[in-house]
Amino acid sequence: MPARILDGTKIANDIRSEVAAEVTTMAAAGVRPGLAVVLVGHNPASEIYVRGKVKACEQVGLYSEQHTPPEAGGTSELLALVEDLNRRDEIDGILVQLPLPSHVDSKKVLMAVDPAKDVDGFHPVNVGFLSTQRPGLVPCTPAGIMEILKRSNIPVAGQEVVVVGRSDIVGKPVAMLLINANATVTVCHSKTRDLWAVCRRADILVAAIGRAGMITRDFVKPGATVIDVGMNQVKDPAEFQRLFGGGLAGGSASNAKREAAFRAKGSTLVGDVHPDVAEVAGALTPVPGGVGPLTIAMLMYNTVKAAKMRRGSGQWSVASGQ
Ligand code: NDP
Repeated sequence: MPARILDGTKIANDIRSEVAAEVTTMAAAGVRPGLAVVLVGHNPASEIYVRGKVKACEQVGLYSEQHTPPEAGGTSELLALVEDLNRRDEIDGILVQLPLPSHVDSKKVLMAVDPAKDVDGFHPVNVGFLSTQRPGLVPCTPAGIMEILKRSNIPVAGQEVVVVGRSDIVGKPVAMLLINANATVTVCHSKTRDLWAVCRRADILVAAIGRAGMITRDFVKPGATVIDVGMNQVKDPAEFQRLFGGGLAGGSASNAKREAAFRAKGSTLVGDVHPDVAEVAGALTPVPGGVGPLTIAMLMYNTVKAAKMRRGSGQWSVASGQ
């Protein structure tokens, strides 16, 4: 039986509606949470992400503003901007879009963001809060993964979970959230021996690697839940063929739509999980339409959460109770 597809777009839309309802309630009390996005330079992918974030803010009724300091500016100019945003009361969340240009000291800039406004959850203070189970701001993609599991009724407590990837943005924080949710967690990386055998132990397998289709069916225990975080642009027709079963040479009907789009655009977005895994997994997040939409939804959620925490209105959580 093919895997149950976990619909990230629907879950993200539910969260956005819950956030919008909360924004309406806050507006009645005269509060409008605000997000400031800082984008340096002209990285096309970053420009697309930032446009998506600003648009999402508008849709849920948040205030948002975008800052585009010149690429030639240095660390001190960015620090001055962040300090200004830290001071402004109408700004509840500050997001500095990564990557920053190589001449900027990214760690210094991220450290300068007030932890109470750190809606990305990257500041060491928030990392510490997460690891000690104190209230704080949690990184958006890992928080979104937990929402997918909860809202799809996939039990986590007591389950064997394997996370492939140990980045500060995804792998480590999602491992910490899963430990906090009482899973037994193994974290793998590029030096892990017998990766496939470790992965095969997992009841829940999280792939956050950045390598198109690396997790093949041999890595997956039959019936396991597989969360595919990867977002990889595939441009090479031979790679497309490896992933989609000879799609360009006349593959299955289910891949026909993707193949048509690939031919038209010259690229397609692919996860870290090989499409064949759908034949062995019990449940699977698709790419696109899985984890990706949750990242922006949780950014909206974090902005409202930051606004409430900063104003002392205590904890607020979306329906699943994160
Ligand atoms: P990083 O490059 O920071 O981390 C990748 C991790 O994968 C590292 O820990 C690395 O190990 C590990 N790794 C690389 N190759 C192998 C291998 N052959 N075997 C085992 N482990 C390996 O990436 P990110 O965590 O930032 O992102 C991961 C993926 O998730 C990317 O595709 C990214 O685009 C996507 N992403 C998606 C988001 C979304 O909203 N859906 C948000 C953020 C990221 P080591 O530490 O040893 O180098």
